[in-house]
Amino acid sequence: GVGIGAVVFHEVAVKIEKLVSESVDDERVRLEDAIAELRFQLEQMSNDPELSYSREYREVLETYRMFAYDRGWHTKMGEAIATGLTAEGAVDRVQQENRARLMKSHDPYLRERGQDLENLATRLIRILQGNMESKHHVLTEDSIIFGRTIGPAELMDYDRSRIKGIVLEEGSPTTHLTIVARALEIPLIGRVAGALMHVQEGDKVVVDTESAHVFLRPSEDILDSYISNVAARVELAAEYLAESKLPVVTKDDHKISLMMNAGLLVDLPNLDRTGAEGIGLYRTEFQFMVSSALPRVSEQVKVYDTVLDAAKDRQVIFRTLDVGGDKQVGFLPREEEENPAMGWRAIRIAIDRPALLRYQIRALLIAASGRDLSVMFPMIAEISELRAVKAIFKKETDRAAAIGNAKPKTIKIGCMLEVPSLAWQLDLLMKEVDFVSIGTNDLMQFFFACDRGNPRLSDRYDLLSPAVLSFLKSIIDAGEQANIPVTLCGEMGAKPLEAMALVGLGLKRLSVSSASIGSVRRTIRSLDLSTLKPFIESNLKSPKHSLRDSLVHFARDHGVVL
Ligand code: PEP
Ligand code: MG
Repeated sequence: GVGIGAVVFHEVAVKIEKLVSESVDDERVRLEDAIAELRFQLEQMSNDPELSYSREYREVLETYRMFAYDRGWHTKMGEAIATGLTAEGAVDRVQQENRARLMKSHDPYLRERGQDLENLATRLIRILQGNMESKHHVLTEDSIIFGRTIGPAELMDYDRSRIKGIVLEEGSPTTHLTIVARALEIPLIGRVAGALMHVQEGDKVVVDTESAHVFLRPSEDILDSYISNVAARVELAAEYLAESKLPVVTKDDHKISLMMNAGLLVDLPNLDRTGAEGIGLYRTEFQFMVSSALPRVSEQVKVYDTVLDAAKDRQVIFRTLDVGGDKQVGFLPREEEENPAMGWRAIRIAIDRPALLRYQIRALLIAASGRDLSVMFPMIAEISELRAVKAIFKKETDRAAAIGNAKPKTIKIGCMLEVPSLAWQLDLLMKEVDFVSIGTNDLMQFFFACDRGNPRLSDRYDLLSPAVLSFLKSIIDAGEQANIPVTLCGEMGAKPLEAMALVGLGLKRLSVSSASIGSVRRTIRSLDLSTLKPFIESNLKSPKHSLRDSLVHFARDHGVVL
């Protein structure tokens, strides 16, 4: 979204004035007291009522707690005090050693945990200096926090109602902070090289995460336009809310299932708010990404149970773990890969390490006992892989039956179609599954051989090209013929013009992020398939780079709301 506020620097560095101690015993006592205080603060943060709904946040704190109670860390600091350092000096010395080890690692997961430890060490030094009440923790006006990096717990030290955005010099989509900021709906832009050099405390800033722009000291007209943009968003959101109960049908009465993508428990209230028909894609990996250890079956059950409770009688499609590649988790061995997106990820890991998938399926079966369960598998490239994971699934249902566990009322098994090779096995595929979900985010990067995260290439190919639309139509048609529901759950479906094209191709099910439900519902309700379908079909053989312009004209001429 968009945030407007004044720059506040997030202070990471702490200055240590006194390094040499006068009494080893006194310093030991100071260190013990400070560690006790650190643990107390972490406990308090986990009890923050405002965040009690966010299990993701608590899991992040769990990592902090793990470090705070780590014997090795504690012992090393004690040893550093024995060499004659003050407690602050000892924390800093040990942190320097850790930094040297962890930050140089090629492993992004370890580097991020190194960051967690760095945040914690800074907090400990602040406690030792009696300096917890940093002036920045009291925000007097709407603020945009600027920093090299911020730890998720540090974010919690600020008054959340005043944080309108975060701009970081570092950061990655998978850091804890990103996950927490998303859960708190705080706009965040990372990897802004040199950001700190160009601003001064108090400068007015506009953060626009949609265009990935940070406007420093914006001119009056830019500021005005963003102020009205924010106001318009608020107004539009209210309108969408008012429309959330309206049926998602075209003008000529074709019903479309409009579902929601989710992956964090804080997404769940959006089900009711948006009126989504269900959760078309639940990305289970988020829970794993914020955990320091493999979440136990019981912990997984709790999450899936909460999701199913929130959904009530609406369908939830759980996607099994899609980790590896750029979605790193701590408990899996990692190797540098030339092409992580095409590497050892998702179902490829599950087939090699079936225990991981078995535990997850076990948790899903328990959580869904007596209810409907829909599960789908990511990154399937060929039917034999699908059969392999279905066999793993069966082992778990057999096991559950053997020990007399209650069963789900129904079980539906589906498959993501996000690797092009699978599109040449559609007949076989449709016989193997209860539903298919097209993941255009991955599918299209492989279709065009074009990295989905590379900004230089982001405008190069258009998903509204005749090639893409014909390709998608062949999948939609195969589902139609076999009477197997086909959903599209990639970002493509979240854009009104693209949604129009997809519905025009015959797609009947879309799953999009909650923020896009309102606009896509409006578009669908303004469509007339009797004119749209023939128009799109007649253009599929066009030699054009893209049908975008033709589709925009069509929409204008036919009163389609975009
Ligand atoms: C996709 O690839 O389109 C998809 C929905 O999965 P993810 O974005 O999680 O890779
Ligand atoms: Mg994908």
